[in-house]
Amino acid sequence: MITRQFGIPVTSPGAILRREKDLGTPLGLETAEMLQRGDLVPDKTIVKLIEDWLHLHGSYGFVFDGFPRTLPQGESLATILKGLKTSLDYAIWLEVSEETVRARIAGRLQCRTCGFTTSADSAHFDDRPICPYCEGRLERRSDDDMGVLQQRLREYNSKTQPLADFYGKVSILRKIDGNRDRETVFADISRLIEDKVLA
Ligand code: AMP
Repeated sequence: MITRQFGIPVTSPGAILRREKDLGTPLGLETAEMLQRGDLVPDKTIVKLIEDWLHLHGSYGFVFDGFPRTLPQGESLATILKGLKTSLDYAIWLEVSEETVRARIAGRLQCRTCGFTTSADSAHFDDRPICPYCEGRLERRSDDDMGVLQQRLREYNSKTQPLADFYGKVSILRKIDGNRDRETVFADISRLIEDKVLA
C-alpha cells in the first residue's frame, strides 16, 4: 500500500527469504527451517540482506517491514545509515493484541508472486483466490500456524520488544494501534509519511 500510494520502495526480510526459498537458492534453503520454526534468522544474514538492498534501492527513501527485529540489527542499521549519510525519520510500532494476531494469522492470504497480503474475509473471489494486482495465486503462509506463532511471540518478547526503548530514546518511535481495520491504520501511517514528504 505504501509503495502504491507514495512510490516509496518497501522491503521485508521475511518476503525476501520466502522468495529465496521458492527459487531454491542456498540462502533460501538454509533459512527455510528457521522460518518454519518461528525462530529469528541470525542478525548477520539479515543485516547483509538489508545492506545490499539499500545500496540498490535506497537512494530516494525506503520503508522496512519487519526490520530491525533485534537490538544488534538496530545498531547495525544506524551504522549503515551513518555511512550513507542518512537517518531514519520514524520507527513505526504497530501495537496489536495477541487476539488480533491470532485472528489475522488464521485468515491471512498472501500472493505467491508479488507478496500482496489480504484476508480470507475481506477478499472477494469468483472461484479461486487470485491476487487483484498480479493475478498470482493467493495462499496461506506455511508459518501462519498457531504452534509456530508461540515461538514467534517468544522471539518478539525477548528480542524485538527492547527496540521500543532504543527508538524511544532517539524520539523517532511512533506507536499506532494496529487492532483497527486496515484502512484506518493505513490512514495513520499515511499522515506520518505525508508530514515528512511535505515538510
Ligand atoms: P515476516 O514475513 O516479517 O513475518 O517474517 C517471517 C520470518 O522471517 C520470521 O519469523 C523470521 O524467521 C524471518 N525474519 C523476518 N525478518 C527478520 C528479521 N528482521 N530478523 C530475523 N529474522 C527475520
